[in-house]
Amino acid sequence: MCGIVGYIGPQEAVSVLIEGLEKLEYRGYDSAGVAFAEGSSIKFLKKMGKLTVLRESLNGHNYRAAAGIGHTRWATHGRPSDLNAHPHSDCTGRFAVVHNGIIENYFSLKEWLQLQGHVFRSETDTEVLPHLVEHFYDGNLETAVLEAVAKLEGSFAIAVVTSHEPDKVVAFRQDSPLIVGLGRGENFLASDIPAILKHTRRTYVLNDGEMAVLEAGRVRVLDRQGNEIIKGVTEVKWKAEQAERGGYEHFMLKEIYEQPRALRDTLSGRITPDGSEVVLDEVSISPEEIEGLKKIHITACGTAYHAGLVGKYIIEKLVRLPVEVDIASEFRYRQPIIEPGTLVVVISQSGETADTLAALREARRQGARVVAVTNVVGSSVAREADGIIYTWAGPEIAVASTKAYTTQLVSMYLLALYLAKGRGTVDPDEIKEIILGLQKIAGKAQSILSNSAEVKVFAGELASCRDIFFIGRGLDYAVAMEGSLKLKEISYLHAEAYAAGELKHGTLALIEDNVPVVALVTQEGTFDKMVSNIQEVNARGASVVALATDGLKGVEKVTGKVVYIPKTHPLLTPVLAVIPLQLLAYHAAVARGCDVDKPRNLAKSVTVE
Ligand code: GLU
Repeated sequence: MCGIVGYIGPQEAVSVLIEGLEKLEYRGYDSAGVAFAEGSSIKFLKKMGKLTVLRESLNGHNYRAAAGIGHTRWATHGRPSDLNAHPHSDCTGRFAVVHNGIIENYFSLKEWLQLQGHVFRSETDTEVLPHLVEHFYDGNLETAVLEAVAKLEGSFAIAVVTSHEPDKVVAFRQDSPLIVGLGRGENFLASDIPAILKHTRRTYVLNDGEMAVLEAGRVRVLDRQGNEIIKGVTEVKWKAEQAERGGYEHFMLKEIYEQPRALRDTLSGRITPDGSEVVLDEVSISPEEIEGLKKIHITACGTAYHAGLVGKYIIEKLVRLPVEVDIASEFRYRQPIIEPGTLVVVISQSGETADTLAALREARRQGARVVAVTNVVGSSVAREADGIIYTWAGPEIAVASTKAYTTQLVSMYLLALYLAKGRGTVDPDEIKEIILGLQKIAGKAQSILSNSAEVKVFAGELASCRDIFFIGRGLDYAVAMEGSLKLKEISYLHAEAYAAGELKHGTLALIEDNVPVVALVTQEGTFDKMVSNIQEVNARGASVVALATDGLKGVEKVTGKVVYIPKTHPLLTPVLAVIPLQLLAYHAAVARGCDVDKPRNLAKSVTVE
């Protein structure tokens, strides 16, 4: 999720590593570290906080390392701290590992390793790796790493060094990016291109299941069985600044495209292998408490509030408990009624949103049990809540939230399914069906992203309009609100979302010739009603773009402009429907020449009330 670098060659490794990490700073991270062989052991230098803290701790000391690995961490397992920072070590202190991603089965591996006598020092999932490598090592790092990764489930890019073989850096990739930079008499490793650009533009881009063995004079790429693979060299053509955004024009677009991966990570390790149950140990609610629940409050701000609106719909439907959703700044001042059996769910990407934090404190003061949904491990809401669901979306840089929102939605589904199971409110087969839908959602998100050309065309048409309306019913209404907010935030176009049934109670007066209306039609149950609403606005001259689920036939009879999303479980459509709306906002903003990643007057993390 964050940054990996590696180096082997004649330059002083520590400075090369730190310089490489600096180039990854735009990603945001919570701690940093490097490791390299020094005599018969490995030297570890790691610090919580920014890279400057690590740099200052070196105190001008000049190390003479010929090879090493480095990391910036975006914590998923264990709070940010010096100890949890990477690289991690085995028991002997002779192996060091850095890792991006999540090791889903780390818990059982850790138990198994502890039974063999291994002693763990950190709270991370990563630490199982150095111990596994130590366990399998019999004189060859490559085979030990291959045996270790064969035990892992999840997504990981890793790099390993050992003082037994100081002339090697070994790396492996599974579902998390990793490239090798090819130099002359030296070689580089990085999770992102900017880290190596200063040194070389010639790379090997590793595929899933490939291992790279870097030596100063050569690089070998091996498959899982240890057979050598002939790799083609990929020449990087991006400019340095473009490389930071993975070749995308803006961070927002990059983050929109990262959603399939982020969605997979959110689900990672949270579903039993047979697909029948959700595992959410970190919410820390006992079965008795679940049974005793009487009411749920969800509170959040902005986009997270919109995720809460979807949450209400899903939880009421699956758990059959009343759910209230509040804007956090309203919640704390309206004297909410919190009685025994009330669960409060707060949602905040950064975990530092001042209003949400204040709402959390108010809820706890009144004795509610609080679960936080957040993207930042160790953030204030995570520390102060009783239970947590981390969204694991990775760092989000663009101010307008995209992957944080969709992963918040998935967190809402997980919570709803977890509570539904605990209260026996949903048939186990139905739970399985929704879980299956969740497991397939990333692939469907990918197909929307791969076929989005027409959204760009529609966005171009919107760019010159003054007002835009989004309409939908039920879940679609909640998504319409998020679509409308996205457009306002980054394109500065005036947009409003309305419950489609509410149109004729007032808003219809605003519809005149060529006013754009985006109509969400993903739900079979309200399909006919939505078609009628589209006809109502058509009759007043509106220009309608419909967003419909594939297979819901007949939308094209009322508008020529239809964007289809793949069919999924009807409760899961928000995760997919929002993606074209994010792209619509993005392309409209670009067409209007707006500063997409840093919209005027807005900040990423709102830490003031
Ligand atoms: N899961 C690992 C941790 O929490 C790696 C996080 C990352 O990708 O930075 O330490």
